[in-house]
Amino acid sequence: KVTLDACIMDHENNCGSVACLQDIENPISVARKVMEETQHVMLVGEGAKQFALAKGFKETNLLTEKSKEAWEKWKEESKYQPVINSENHDTIGLLALDENGNLSGACTTSGMAYKLHGRVGDSPIIGAGLFVDNEVGAACATGMGEAVIRIAGSAIVVELMRNGMSPTDACKEAVDRVVKKHKDLTNLQVGFLALNKYGEAGGYSVYAGFNYAMHTATQNEMIDAKYNREW
Ligand code: ASP
Repeated sequence: KVTLDACIMDHENNCGSVACLQDIENPISVARKVMEETQHVMLVGEGAKQFALAKGFKETNLLTEKSKEAWEKWKEESKYQPVINSENHDTIGLLALDENGNLSGACTTSGMAYKLHGRVGDSPIIGAGLFVDNEVGAACATGMGEAVIRIAGSAIVVELMRNGMSPTDACKEAVDRVVKKHKDLTNLQVGFLALNKYGEAGGYSVYAGFNYAMHTATQNEMIDAKYNREW
């Protein structure tokens, strides 16, 4: 079962989210519809799918042959040991500052591979996978969603920037909290990305290998984030 999670937030604290959405290709577009066309913030599971279909999204089988084969192989042992490492995650977090100085962001994912059916990670949770406060900055997260939720990750990064930290330092402090709150850090990758009101960006991760794309009028490059430790 392929289940997708996504959320979106704008400069006026409008937000929309879908979780555990099946058979719909672009969950972030559904999240945007939730934000723009309902009174709600979050729709999940079958209700989110019905909403998407009602809004004209097409039902699509998202299980690729490659993923199906990998899953068949996984079933031979079927250990519920979700693994997040530098190769095994697919979340897209996007933070934007427009020409009027307004911030917004989005976060979208199929989540951790081989999660229990029904599991929702940090990515669709406003304050965990994404948070935007137009007075201060925006932040998003990737990696082991449970660890991000436990520290209210993206909301904390924004609050740390409010208190004067640079984007990189705020991400580092959030990573330090993840490290401090978890005894076993095996495979526990988490990365935060932040953008402040002045257009300064930064990132930080538990393990090496997290990078982000910085795109401005004059810059377009991949930047390796600083990190707490090597794998
Ligand atoms: N944060 C996502 C989740 O826990 C996974 C990822 O970033 O790849 O579902």
